[in-house]
Amino acid sequence: MRCSQIEFFGYAGKIAYIDLSREKIESRELSEDEIKLFIGGIGLATKLLVENIPDPKINPFEPENPLIFMTGALTGTPVYGSSRFIVASKSPLTNAWGEAHIGGHWGPELKKAGFDGLVVVGKAKDPVYIYVENEKIEIRDARRFWGLDIYEASKEILKEVGDENAKISLIGPAGENLVRIATIAFDPIPYGPRMAGRTGMGSVMGSKNLKAIVVKGSGRIKLKDPSKVASVLNRLLPLIMSSPTAQIYSLYGTSGEVEEFYEYGDMPIKNFSEGVFEGYKKLTGEYFKEKGLMIGTYGCWACPVKCWKITKSESLTSFRFPEYETIASFGTMLKIDDPSYIVKFNEICNRYGLDTISTGNTIAWLFEIYERGLVNKDMLGGIEPKWGDGEAVIKLLHMIGRREGIGKILAEGCRRASQILGNDTERYCMHVKGVEMPMHDPRAFKGLGLQYATSNRGADHLYGLFMRIEQGQRMPDLRIYERVDRFSTKGKGWMVATMQIWSEIQESMGVCKFIDIPPAHIAGLYTYVTGIKTTVQDLLVVGKRIFTLKRLFNVANGISRKDDTLPRRILSEPLKEGGSKDQVVELDHMLEEYYKFMGWDNDGKPTREVIESLGLVEYAKKLALI
Ligand code: SF4
Repeated sequence: MRCSQIEFFGYAGKIAYIDLSREKIESRELSEDEIKLFIGGIGLATKLLVENIPDPKINPFEPENPLIFMTGALTGTPVYGSSRFIVASKSPLTNAWGEAHIGGHWGPELKKAGFDGLVVVGKAKDPVYIYVENEKIEIRDARRFWGLDIYEASKEILKEVGDENAKISLIGPAGENLVRIATIAFDPIPYGPRMAGRTGMGSVMGSKNLKAIVVKGSGRIKLKDPSKVASVLNRLLPLIMSSPTAQIYSLYGTSGEVEEFYEYGDMPIKNFSEGVFEGYKKLTGEYFKEKGLMIGTYGCWACPVKCWKITKSESLTSFRFPEYETIASFGTMLKIDDPSYIVKFNEICNRYGLDTISTGNTIAWLFEIYERGLVNKDMLGGIEPKWGDGEAVIKLLHMIGRREGIGKILAEGCRRASQILGNDTERYCMHVKGVEMPMHDPRAFKGLGLQYATSNRGADHLYGLFMRIEQGQRMPDLRIYERVDRFSTKGKGWMVATMQIWSEIQESMGVCKFIDIPPAHIAGLYTYVTGIKTTVQDLLVVGKRIFTLKRLFNVANGISRKDDTLPRRILSEPLKEGGSKDQVVELDHMLEEYYKFMGWDNDGKPTREVIESLGLVEYAKKLALI
């Protein structure tokens, strides 16, 4: 794709700005400078969010809060796993940095339609959807689709567009109802959806009266040196496919890891309060398959692993099989061991557009505070939640999606809900910075605890994936040469920071973290795809710049050392049984080491020196921090 100044390789070369209040659409070319400093994907989204938000302290539901969809530099190219793109905005769940990452096919299609990303601001007077086709963008009436769940709405909107193969992102009733744990769904039919799940991005979309974005593109993404790209990919394929993760994921998706995580004492049970639950055996990928609940395989763009599994229900002949996170959130967390219930909960969450991690976690919290007598059945509309009660979960899911009864409070996410209910209920809410914890217990992997505590979007298992390192993975390109002890804390500060910084690069490139492409090969592929020479060292500087800019955004929103912590249960209540028995996370000295490596002061604020060295002075000024 050619523009007036630069010939772009890998990139489409253009970003669109869509103002729904003014019904105004503009676009501009990417600049060499922003590519150099922020690469693409989450890097560019971070820059654009800070640039376009009028005040970092605004209410996330204000029309001026930008909602940014951004593809990575390699998204849509032949690079394995280059399906990824991100959604970023100020989060209504945390009132701080928000983002969610997705694979699938929507991102590559957007690039083929001529755009690296879309910046959406404003609020439409009535519900609308955005239609993008080969460099043209329109805002269209969506009133008749408002209120439909994501499967129904997807079907109807694509019928109106006249192309059932167009790619679609959309919200369900949860996003429309400003449920703070709402997702944005991508391509639900026939095998999806993929979900931009974390930090409530669906509710930001709902606050803009934006039901969907449909994309059709037939452009070509040019590569600077296609033969070198092909040669690296040929060499990488056997390496990727022989990794134990790829082999398990190819067969069972992430559900293939249930047994291993359970054995580590990592899979949370009964709201992170118990260490043993024999019912986990009925929640493994193998068991689902045996019961006929895993019926097929699909994959994201350019993926040889294809971890995306397919299931079915009474009303749908095919849809996305629950991931490990969903299985644990609704299975072991609630002590439910009937796999057909897990499939049912997954479908309901997908229809409303609810983040399964946050929703399952919040429901587990409700079960615990009910058991402890901190709420009663009258407060819950007659529901008596008891561990293992799948029917109570179904009722609660509908109430959350519709914001009805107790669902109105639960729709706020666990932290806010506990603040509304009071009575010391926050003590049992398993969150970091307001984001419900994913399904990995930091008492099993202590570096992961530091990762949760310091991640910019709250409890986050993906930014760093440090449990992989603590399971034995080495990253020689990042100077992690030796196997680390999962229970030790010494020397983990710099390692966790480095892995988080590297994650910024993966999310800026748009490559899947489940496909083990070593950093040096990512640098090489970026060079051959775009023609922009880079090294791992260069990329680590960019990654640190992105991570630090998000931290500055959070500091501007009042985040400091006090927020870089974990729930009391993880810090001081050891489990009595299981693979992480007798462990708690000793956070303080890991945090000291981490701050020092990142160049942050004692209170967790990036120092002037580090801000200057990363070229972030103008951004820090914009955020009123210097
Ligand atoms: S490994 Fe799974 S998530 Fe990653 S690109 Fe492949 S199908 Fe998508």
